[in-house]
Amino acid sequence: MSPRRADALLRFGRETARAITAAVPTAPSAPWDKPAGDLRGVGPERAAQLARLDLHTVADLLLHRPRRYEDRRHLHSIASLTAREAVAVHGTVVAQGVKRWRRGTRSVFELILDDGTGRLHCRWWNLPFMENYFHVGDDVFAYGKLVSLKPPTIDHPETEVGEAGDETMIHLNRIAPIYPLTEGLPQRWLRALIWRTLAQFEAVIAEPWPTLALPDLPTRANALRMLHFPDQMADVEIARQRLALDELIPLQQAIRQRRRSFEARARGLPCGGDNRLMKPFLASLGFKLTVAQTRVLREIRADLAGPHPMRRLLQGDVGSGKTAVAACSALMALESGFNVALMAPTEILAEQHWQNFRRWFDPLGVAVELRTGSHKTEVERQSELRVEAHLPPVSSTLNPQPSTLFVGTHALLTAGFDLPRLGLVIVDEQHKFGVGQREQLVRKGRYPHLLVMTATPIPRTLGLTLYGDLDVSVVDELPAGRGAIKTFVRAAESLPKVWDFVRKKLAEGHQAYVVYPRVETADAVAGGKAAMAEAERLRATLAPHQVGLLHGRMSATDKDAVMAAFRANRLQALVATSVIEVGVDIPNATVMVIENAEQFGLAQLHQLRGRIGRGAHEAFCVLVAAARTPEAKARLNVLGETTDGFRIAEADLQWRGPGELLGQEQSGLPRFRFANLATDLALVERARALAVQLPADG
Ligand code: ADP
Ligand code: MG
Repeated sequence: MSPRRADALLRFGRETARAITAAVPTAPSAPWDKPAGDLRGVGPERAAQLARLDLHTVADLLLHRPRRYEDRRHLHSIASLTAREAVAVHGTVVAQGVKRWRRGTRSVFELILDDGTGRLHCRWWNLPFMENYFHVGDDVFAYGKLVSLKPPTIDHPETEVGEAGDETMIHLNRIAPIYPLTEGLPQRWLRALIWRTLAQFEAVIAEPWPTLALPDLPTRANALRMLHFPDQMADVEIARQRLALDELIPLQQAIRQRRRSFEARARGLPCGGDNRLMKPFLASLGFKLTVAQTRVLREIRADLAGPHPMRRLLQGDVGSGKTAVAACSALMALESGFNVALMAPTEILAEQHWQNFRRWFDPLGVAVELRTGSHKTEVERQSELRVEAHLPPVSSTLNPQPSTLFVGTHALLTAGFDLPRLGLVIVDEQHKFGVGQREQLVRKGRYPHLLVMTATPIPRTLGLTLYGDLDVSVVDELPAGRGAIKTFVRAAESLPKVWDFVRKKLAEGHQAYVVYPRVETADAVAGGKAAMAEAERLRATLAPHQVGLLHGRMSATDKDAVMAAFRANRLQALVATSVIEVGVDIPNATVMVIENAEQFGLAQLHQLRGRIGRGAHEAFCVLVAAARTPEAKARLNVLGETTDGFRIAEADLQWRGPGELLGQEQSGLPRFRFANLATDLALVERARALAVQLPADG
């Protein structure tokens, strides 16, 4: 299977972010950069344990975020336990012992805590060595969920054993932080270390943004104290917000800086156009642009005629008509005497664009050339006519040289194609392109305008973080007269009925996509059906209708042939992997069945579903889920309930979290300890506004 959408979705943004974080200046050395191993009471063994938690410096220690808190001012008395819920109890060990059975292969270690009101049983199954950690008479905190009330029992509680001479004010009668630990590192020792370290360094923790007014938030030093030793539970969230802001501001500052230095470097080519091609184009289009399309085109025209090269992200849900926007934008640059490059993520899509644009532009006398890896033409191989890209046109409005639209995949940039007099680059379905490729465009002092189009709705938090250096336009309206898409979630048992339904629709003259998560059975890492094997089966199930197969491992020529046959209705059903996910536009295909739907992300399912419902006919999407966990079902039901891509993206972000969505480690974003991109929109916006108030460096 192609890399999960989760990765592909934001690769571009990731690389942007990586480039941006690389630009964040590192702070000068400060007292809190002191190695944790230099602190009093931290020997080499402890230092090694801290290092395993990635705690190397004083700053790391101070930013070590508790994983939960225990309110030890109000501990539960054992006599008061009446519900099977998570409780924290404090008592003395009055008895303990290991029971073994099955010839000693099974065991339970049991410990009884008495707090003066009653007795709590703590059990550890098959961990007999736990016996060594406790002694009768020990003072123990236990935390866990009650599995029984008679007698009150917790299995595998978290415990903390008091030591003689403990500083009670750190561990007792307060809201105590419970930290992530590592093998051999005691909770109490770490808590005491952080307490001492905070006391020692509190006075020298500087405000990172002394010029910014943050009247509703504590200072950084206070926030750190509130984080570790809060007076009230509410302090924790206030502290988190302050520390999250401190993470988000430098990122927004870097994004801003990057944009400014780009603008200082680059002058825009005059590509605003004069409407002489646009007018006849719009007249021949066969439909009127939507209000949203028109508004976006106004924004684009202002950029193309402006002083700096356009850097714009165009978001529009599947089917919102981004291709027409691309065509009009291209015409503006073509009218101005510049060439235009349109890049698609797959050859299938490049081919489709090439056909569309030829139909549209041939009558206007604009040449449209396809240049993909497998469609290298003689013309460009010879490519004698290398004109310097940044040469301005002869006149600023009219140019006698005929202009060309080059259509291709990213091979346009890498396969040694020379694109002369490039005024505008349009990247369709951007998430497949990296910023690296984007940068290739502007090598050698070329600064064409750039329009990046995506149907992947990017939740606003991520947009502001990952695409913060692009301007954003949104096509937030679908053309009128679209047939609705009905979406159903079905269990695998219903498949015979599903195929009955598909046969009926094919008999009515419609076409269908059937999508599988992987190409071959051998790829089935997580189980799930494979397109190749299922295509064989469906040839029989759907006979006499013709069934084609499309996947990413086919050669470009084979893919083209299959797409052409499906487009011409010589194939009625197309079995495919997610290669069809982006851009493919065949209005007569009104049915889509997605098997093992639970293996796709919601945003990806939404993209796939966008392949149907593109004509005036009613369309049907059937999501067949093999796993019937309530969670999988609830996720898929989101698609049954809405076709609003932005709502679906937000839901995806909530379900899977930004960590998974971004692949946190490789996301290129700094590892946020406190900010949460799934939920911190308000903080991201605030950081962006604050970054503007900070002086620009350089
Ligand atoms: P996407 O935004 O997903 O790339 P497309 O550009 O492929 O969408 O457009 C989807 C379909 O809608 C195409 O068949 C296109 O011709 C049609 N279309 C685009 N704009 C309009 C409009 N203003 N009115 C009616 N149909 C439109
Ligand atoms: Mg498209």
